[in-house]
This record gives sequence, structure tokens and C-alpha cells, in this order.
Amino acid sequence: MTARILDGTKIRDLVFADLADEIQRLGAQGVRPGLAAVLVGENPASQLYVKSKIAACEQLGLASWMHSPPASITTNELLRLVDELNADDGVDGILIQLPLPSQVDTKRVLQAVDPAKDVDGFHPVSLGRLVSGRPGLVACTPAGCMEILRRGEIHVESANAVVLGRSDIVGKPMALLLMHANATVTICHSKTRDLPEVVRRADIVVAAMGKAGYVAADWIRPGATVIDVGTNKVTDANEAARLLQNFPARLERFHAKGSVLVGDVHPDAIHKAGALTPVPGGVGPMTITMLMSNTIKAARLRRGKSDAHIAPSAAVGR
Ligand code: NAP
Repeated sequence: MTARILDGTKIRDLVFADLADEIQRLGAQGVRPGLAAVLVGENPASQLYVKSKIAACEQLGLASWMHSPPASITTNELLRLVDELNADDGVDGILIQLPLPSQVDTKRVLQAVDPAKDVDGFHPVSLGRLVSGRPGLVACTPAGCMEILRRGEIHVESANAVVLGRSDIVGKPMALLLMHANATVTICHSKTRDLPEVVRRADIVVAAMGKAGYVAADWIRPGATVIDVGTNKVTDANEAARLLQNFPARLERFHAKGSVLVGDVHPDAIHKAGALTPVPGGVGPMTITMLMSNTIKAARLRRGKSDAHIAPSAAVGR
């Protein structure tokens, strides 16, 4: 058996098409949603992420602003910038790119963002709304996983879903979204006993641990759906050989490049799962997609616009 590939890039294009329609409708009502990104310092990875987010805004015709304070910024200075963005009516979404420099109190800064503009879904108010099933802004990566399940026509209701990882930004919101979609959810973490047996009971496995190829192929129930959130850069040749011995072309690319990106699930799971997100090209493209969706949703909710025409993607987490 070879799993059906749940292609995040193709799903992103479908969602973008729906979002473009939604943006046009908002435009006809005089609304142009806008995202303000705050990038502190000059971390190359963060610069790349923020650039991709701004590029996505431009592709969709959303307004965007980039604020780039120096790495020496203090918590109070950053709080003042957040206050200004909160007060700016043209800004619908505020994105604080993490990590922040060590002298900055990250929790205080994230908590200062107006929950109505919390397009990352990290604010405690956003999490509270998610817990109680109220409309709100949901963290982008788990929202993207739900969109993959929905567009991939994976049956979630009554499914046994196992979420590996309990972080605030992926595991916990993911488990809540699956529960709201009527799955029976088990959350696993580093202290879970007999992980392979728990995973073997799953119709849907969501892996978000940050451990390259940790979930062995024989843990996956034949035909199960695998959503692999893990994004791990492997640079060790022995590790690459362990993971890619059945994928010679990928192994060859590793030797040429010196690194390879793999998920938390062993690539051999493609021969056990019924459907699976590849790494790269699965969950990754959906995170920025859902950031765009959240910005449009924030614009609609903040400005009291009708949701009669919400694109299905924009309704995730409602
Ligand atoms: P995190 O904050 O480090 O959380 C990892 C979770 O995995 C923790 O809950 C931890 O348990 C659990 N865990 C670690 N080892 C385990 C083990 N041996 N058995 C069972 N559970 C274990 O990571 P995160 O921020 O959620 O991210 C997880 C992965 O997703 C990373 O690879 C990250 O790069 C990736 N990611 C990808 C995207 C994307 O757009 N594709 C977005 C976000 C994250 P404890 O709580 O007990 O420590």
C-alpha cells in the first residue's frame, strides 16, 4: 500500500482562491484587511519567515506593514509599538515573529496584543475561546492541519485521533480542534507510557514532537491518516541513512546538499498509512495560509462584516 499524499501546496492554492474571493467581497464593502509584522533584530530564519508572510499578503492584495526594531529593544519599547498597532484601525492582524531577544519578556508582549488582532492565536483570550468553542482566531499550524483533513476528505467525526505533543502552539490547540470536530482524542507527551500501542489505536495521528522520524512505520495502523507537523533538519549521515534507506533519490540529495528536512514520522510510514502529509510540502505551506485566513477573519470580525459568504477555510475553528 502507498498512502495518498495530502499535498499542502495544492491545498494552499485552493484556500488562496477562496480567500481571494473573500477579499474581493470585503473590498466591495470598503475593507482592505491588513497585517502588521514585527520582526525584532536580524535572525536570518525569522527574516525569511516574515518575508514569506509579507509576500503572501502581497500575493493576495492584503495591506501589510513591516516593523523592524533593533535586537537591543526593551520590553517597554516593544509594548509601546504593540500599543500603537493595537490603536491603528487599519491594522487587522499583528504578528510578533518569535523568538524575541532574551531581554524581552515574550509572554508580556504577546499578551499585550489586542485579542481582536491576535492572528497567531497565541493570546490567552484566543485559547480560551477555542476551549469553549466560541468564534475566534485559532493558532495557524493546527488550523492548517484541520484544513488539510477537511480538504483531504478525511473522516474526523468518531475517529480515534492521537496527538503527539502538547505545546501551546500546536499540540493543545490541535487536540481541541479535533475534539470540537467530534473525534475521540488522546494527547501524548514525553511521559506517555507505551507510545507505540497508543499510536496503533489511532485512525488519525498528528505528530508534533520535533523528533526526526521518531514514530516508526509499524506504529501506524494500516490505512490510518498521518499529519506530520514535525520539521527537523537532519545533517548526520547515519541518521539520514536510517531514515531514507528506502528512498535512494532523497538520500542522494542529502549527500549532495549535506542536509534533509524530515518529519516526526519515519518516511517508511508511506507504506502503512492510508493518507499522509509529506515533509516538506505538507503542513508547512498551510501555516502561512492560515495566517492569511486569520487576517481576513480578524478584519471581518473586527469590522462587523457579514459572514454569510465566508470561505470554508476562513471558518476553521468557528
Ligand atoms: P515543542 O514546544 O518542543 O513541543 C514538543 C512536544 O512533543 C512536547 O509536548 C513534548 O512533551 C512532546 N515530546 C517530545 N518528545 C516526546 C516523546 N519522546 N514522546 C512523546 N512526546 C514527546 O514543539 P512544537 O513547537 O509544538 O513543535 C513541534 C514540531 O512541529 C517541531 O518539529 C516544529 O519544528 C514543528 N512545527 C512545524 C510547523 C510548520 O509550520 N510545519 C509549525 C510549528 C511547529 P513534553 O510536553 O512532555 O515535553
